[in-house]
Amino acid sequence: MALTINHLCTACDACLHVCPNDAIVAERPYYLIEASACTECLGDYAEAQCAAICPIEGAIVDELGVALNLPGSLTGIPPQKLNPLQLIEARP
Ligand code: SF4
Ligand code: SF4
Repeated sequence: MALTINHLCTACDACLHVCPNDAIVAERPYYLIEASACTECLGDYAEAQCAAICPIEGAIVDELGVALNLPGSLTGIPPQKLNPLQLIEARP
């Protein structure tokens, strides 16, 4: 049970210091989550802290590849008004 950071990550650094398990690694070109250390914040917080602070839609996904911050969820832009390429990019 772990989340994953994908290529949409801009290495902004926001998530690095909020993880209760130090599971995030400042790799380049984008950050990574150590699967063995990530608990999805269960037992520490009601929601995944990395996804809660991440400003990039689609950059953090669950084990099924579903984005925690879905396209439009942070910007408020309805998905049907997004450029189709943005929706493709947000897929795992
Ligand atoms: S879900 Fe929680 S434990 Fe997992 S990487 Fe994100 S902040 Fe760390
Ligand atoms: S907060 Fe999001 S965009 Fe920033 S480093 Fe973490 S995963 Fe990447």
